[in-house]
Amino acid sequence: HADTAMYGAKAAGRNNFQFFTADMNVRATERLLLENALRRAIATDQLSLHYQPQIDTRSGRTMGCEALVRWNDPAQGPISPARFIPVAEDSGLIIQLGDWVLREACRQQVRWSQAGLGEVCIAVNISALQFRRAEFVDSVVAILQETGASPSAIELEITESALMQPGEQLLERLHQLVGHGLSLALDDFGTGYSSLAYLKRLPIARLKVDQSFVADLPGDPEDAAVVTATLSMARDLGLEVVAEGVETQQQRAFLCERQCTLMQGYLFSRPLAADDFAGWLKVHPPA
Ligand code: C2E
Ligand code: MG
Ligand code: MG
Ligand code: MG
Repeated sequence: HADTAMYGAKAAGRNNFQFFTADMNVRATERLLLENALRRAIATDQLSLHYQPQIDTRSGRTMGCEALVRWNDPAQGPISPARFIPVAEDSGLIIQLGDWVLREACRQQVRWSQAGLGEVCIAVNISALQFRRAEFVDSVVAILQETGASPSAIELEITESALMQPGEQLLERLHQLVGHGLSLALDDFGTGYSSLAYLKRLPIARLKVDQSFVADLPGDPEDAAVVTATLSMARDLGLEVVAEGVETQQQRAFLCERQCTLMQGYLFSRPLAADDFAGWLKVHPPA
């Protein structure tokens, strides 16, 4: 057939051939190119972190920030994490990338502290694949020791989907992290199907309401109901809530009326390069 290409799949072993349509072949090739470029980017320090402020709207102070990885490829320009994180996860590069991100965030925490900017809390995104490795806790502890970062100023964001039905081993891992002084946040909350009973068992300090529920506030009655229910449940469980993706005054007012005062979003600031975030802190000092 004309649009079927024979393609030797190295990963599948010798003498093993798989058939791809021409279109799948193009996509597989693009992915492989992206993977190789990403491998180089990690090895040659082409990645950077941006920091998005998290605001306590009661006081107007900065309660911390979220570290978000950025990749500026010399040939292709900036590539979005929404595009390369899945490639990193499929290829296993997420382990190296994740270590790089955590190390850089820890170094930045120390730099800001030494610059007299206070103990700025930095939240770091952790992929499910990182968290599920037996070595995860040891690797985090090693990076904390190596960089001298203060564990209480580092928060790990783990997605709700990564923590669906966690077994005893994963629960134990969460407790170990907390035992080392780190705090934990459940990211993208609302996109999975967490039950109340399960949330109670997790040693997490806060939930991050996924931006997809914030985007259409206050007009969308279903999103309004989900957010309102999440806030009251979180209050009952003694969890803090950070609303993500807050872009408008109307969204902010809706959240404030329901006692959700911790927010992150373009209404306050886009993610900023480290120097720009330091400038932000001078105007909005940490709590
Ligand atoms: P996330 O962890 O939910 O991060 C929030 C995303 O929302 C970020 O996108 C941020 O730039 C964006 N955002 C913040 N405020 C607003 C707003 O007001 N409106 C809108 N529309 N968007 C807003 P970004 O940086 O493109 O990252 C996308 C996702 O990629 C992240 O979602 C996270 O899942 C993943 N990611 C980013 N950095 C890392 C990393 O270092 N490690 C891992 N494992 N994943 C990462
Ligand atoms: Mg996050
Ligand atoms: Mg999120
Ligand atoms: Mg997300």
